[in-house]
Amino acid sequence: MSSEEQDPVKTICPYCGVGCGIQVMPGEDPGDMRFMPWGDAPVNDGRVCIKGGAATQVVNHEDRLTAPQIKEDGEFREATWDEAYERIVSEMEGIHEEFGADAMGFFGSSKTMNEENYLLQKLARRYGTNNVDNCTRMCHASTVYALRTSLGAGAMTNSMEDLEEEADVLWIQGANPAEQHPIANSNYFRQAVLEGATVIQVDPHANKTTRSFDIEETDRHQHLQLEPGTDIPLLNIVLKTVLENDWVDEEFIAERTEGIEHLKETLEDFDKEAAAEECGVPLEDIELAAEKYATADNATIFTGMGMSQHTCGVDNVQNEINLALITGNVGRPGTGVNPLRGQNNVQGTSDVGAMPNVLPGYQLVDDDEARESVEDVWGFEIPDEPGLTNVEITGAIGEQIQGMYVMGENPIMSEPNANHVADLLEELNFLVVQDIFMTETAEYADVLLPATTWAERGGTVTNTDRRVQRMRGVEKVHENTKHDLEILCEVGTRLFGEGFDFDTPEEVFEELRQVTPSYHGMSYDALGEEGIHWPCYEPGDQGDQYLYADGFETESGLGHIEGVSHQPPKEVPDDDYPLILTTARLEEHYNTGTMSRRSPRLNKQYPENFVDVHPNDAERYGIEDGETVRVKSRRGEIELEAHVTEDIKEGVIWTTPHFAAAAANVLTNDVLDERAKIPEYKAAAAEIEVGVEPSTTGDAPADD
Ligand code: SF4
Repeated sequence: MSSEEQDPVKTICPYCGVGCGIQVMPGEDPGDMRFMPWGDAPVNDGRVCIKGGAATQVVNHEDRLTAPQIKEDGEFREATWDEAYERIVSEMEGIHEEFGADAMGFFGSSKTMNEENYLLQKLARRYGTNNVDNCTRMCHASTVYALRTSLGAGAMTNSMEDLEEEADVLWIQGANPAEQHPIANSNYFRQAVLEGATVIQVDPHANKTTRSFDIEETDRHQHLQLEPGTDIPLLNIVLKTVLENDWVDEEFIAERTEGIEHLKETLEDFDKEAAAEECGVPLEDIELAAEKYATADNATIFTGMGMSQHTCGVDNVQNEINLALITGNVGRPGTGVNPLRGQNNVQGTSDVGAMPNVLPGYQLVDDDEARESVEDVWGFEIPDEPGLTNVEITGAIGEQIQGMYVMGENPIMSEPNANHVADLLEELNFLVVQDIFMTETAEYADVLLPATTWAERGGTVTNTDRRVQRMRGVEKVHENTKHDLEILCEVGTRLFGEGFDFDTPEEVFEELRQVTPSYHGMSYDALGEEGIHWPCYEPGDQGDQYLYADGFETESGLGHIEGVSHQPPKEVPDDDYPLILTTARLEEHYNTGTMSRRSPRLNKQYPENFVDVHPNDAERYGIEDGETVRVKSRRGEIELEAHVTEDIKEGVIWTTPHFAAAAANVLTNDVLDERAKIPEYKAAAAEIEVGVEPSTTGDAPADD
């Protein structure tokens, strides 16, 4: 059949959490496919960013894993699937027998689908442990924690559509949607601005978002360029200003919230002038921003990893919730607190229970009634104590943890203090990795399973505004690869005999929705091409575009206000490390770069990592623009090209996490937020060394 005779397949972009619809046009051969726009796709109306347009480039990459491999005497050798499965089963049974179920850790993946993550967490729990987690831990665990405990659901309160139509003020803190969620920025935020919305951006780094709305020179735009790690004092200035000026919504506070007194007590002796100095932002600018937000008809907050990836991440987001609640900006179109999720299925991976403390639908593992309702469907007992998070799993290698099962994740690149993670993986008794490429983590595997890519299989993913959408696959490129779902079913069946007998993603979804209340009313037919925003409790429900119209899903039904105080980053500059290092992502790359570094088009613009340095720091150190420097922290050092720019504040340096050859996470701090267990990626003490002979090279070919 020629390419003209084949129909394109409608699916979802595999990169960020916006969830843009795209089409894949199959060619004559399985690996011969190309991208096509999906003109009336529900989220993006056919528009895509550079990553979406290049999505098919890596599907048939020459680096694809094409056969199972088993490590013997330190070397991989090709194996049959049967050998690989046998080894996995015997190693996992051996660990269970000798050390118990909690000696294994399981990593789900936000790059894979709801059905696959559902099966992975079911596999972990059938094995007898709640040690299962996913990369939400690294990006928005603190956001999910704060939203769940104070409002009810760990997700965006609103949808991109209602924000575009109704929001008068967009408060964007610690997020850079123009780079990290480009279609959300161009389709929705920019449209809101064209209709008159004001933008207040709070970020230590001037970036594409700062320059993307063409209103920078007007009074409808403010960039509050704060010092990294001073979000709480900045928001406390905003909160105190709102309270002092009585810009609160008294009725909303009285009827729908609890905790206002605690907030007032916290702010009673709070010194706004001193706090503004600490933030490095003029007090009057912050007060002006407070007025714009609080006096708007509808104001919305977008929150990103600049807020969540701190040891005070939960409190950072709680303070955003405080602001929304005291001004009554929740429960209506155009309002709310809205985390922009990074990976295409990071929302869904948590929704379906790939977390150590919750089952599908965020039902707590230590809630007897909830756990028993899932046990009734699964037919086995689920452990009733929360398990370890992913950072705790790697941290416990050599002690509690003897084995790991990693699906589509790359913890050596994604976890902080990366050199230490690599040392720990060396000590592991057994590691199984299923992935599409030989990743930095896969190098340490004992069994390596070649999986199919996003373009070759079907399932569902859940985007940043809770929209569950179907992905559809074309023919497999490599005959001897398998879908993640097939692999998990086979491993589960060989280990346990039953409970993993599924032939299709739809069959898995039918079980998933039985145990996930917010997905209960969905089916593949009902999802159609538009998808459905959860919650969708009963068949026929169309889902909710915005949450909490009538009440919050907390125990009291009230929104929880709680005053919080400044907690500086755990590492602050000193004589040895006088700079603050912060990190963030680029538009052209994606997380650990496993896919984007292999895409010629994406790798072209930034084939290597770099570091932004303020001109005054550059002068002090004697750094020329483009010169290679060595950036050091207490955990390691990497070489980077220096970009001298006023985009960053003096005393702060900024780099990206995408490149294996100069991995930023060698430098970052693995200290955790106590409640959400998210690492403090966004602030580490650092030093720069000059006079370095360049040795860093990019990781992937750059020809298009
Ligand atoms: Fe893909 Fe996100 Fe770009 Fe949309 S905005 S095309 S989902 S990377």
